[in-house]
Amino acid sequence: MEPTCFPAVSRVAVSGGTHGNELTGVYIVREMQKQEVDKVGSVSVTTVLANPRATDACRRYIETDLNRCFTNALLSAPITDSTPYEMRRAQELNAQLGPKGSEKAVDLLIDLHNTTANMGLCLIFDSLDWLTLHIYKYIQSKMTKMPVRAIQLNKPRSDAYCLESVGKHGFAIEVGPQPNGVLRADIYNTVKTAVDLTITWLQEFNSGCTFEGGEVEAYIAAKSVDYPRDPDGKITAVIHPKLQDNDFKLLQPGDPVFLSFSGETVNHEGEELYPFFVNECAYYEKKIAFHLARRETFTLPSIRLRT
Ligand SMILES: [Zn+2]
Repeated sequence: MEPTCFPAVSRVAVSGGTHGNELTGVYIVREMQKQEVDKVGSVSVTTVLANPRATDACRRYIETDLNRCFTNALLSAPITDSTPYEMRRAQELNAQLGPKGSEKAVDLLIDLHNTTANMGLCLIFDSLDWLTLHIYKYIQSKMTKMPVRAIQLNKPRSDAYCLESVGKHGFAIEVGPQPNGVLRADIYNTVKTAVDLTITWLQEFNSGCTFEGGEVEAYIAAKSVDYPRDPDGKITAVIHPKLQDNDFKLLQPGDPVFLSFSGETVNHEGEELYPFFVNECAYYEKKIAFHLARRETFTLPSIRLRT
């Protein structure tokens, strides 16, 4: 079968600090800026500290979660005196790196995140994209000492709310476990390696290499589960010790998921699914104890540069 062709990927943006207390991306971007990385071979590189005020305060956000502000509706909403800082910032970033959905948008946007969940290295995609899945396959083939997983959020582009949706292609690199406001050398090196491998892949792609197709697995987000709560909304249970740190380990009906403060176990009900973002610190306020996903295998076509 003939390879599927894509135009050159020559403008890349690497962003960190979209959540100001996820420090790996903050320091990778600062280091790239210090080293004045603005071109690597055939690729121009823009580095962005996405939420500088939240980064200065070492908080996830100041007024609202920046990484929920990139829907078409919010990006085109009029700015008024009461518009939250992050919604203004989202429109600035869209002007700098997008506009989303336009020819002017950067070819690839990589947004760097950390999670308190034990997820290892994950690439998170808004929707299926052969080119970025090939980058995922490449990273997976080079970083063999740890599991490298892909998560698909399955949102139509207009409703996609994350910063990476501003690029023509994009993904988030999500690595954990790392507490908020903390740096760890192992996680810093993991993210740095994934960014460097992405840029290496782009050089090979832009130089005309054909990348053979094959199968990759991805976790497709299916639903989220909240903590058990009392009528006042206070949580009444924690993640069960048998689920804690067991992201991506298949949950079967009857497996324990919560342990109440009075000692009762709550079990998983319904179909077999894979948990992820288990006990993510920032999701308490979003009423999410963990997400659940199906695992699917995708057959990628071979791809190469359109000449
Ligand atoms: Zn984040």
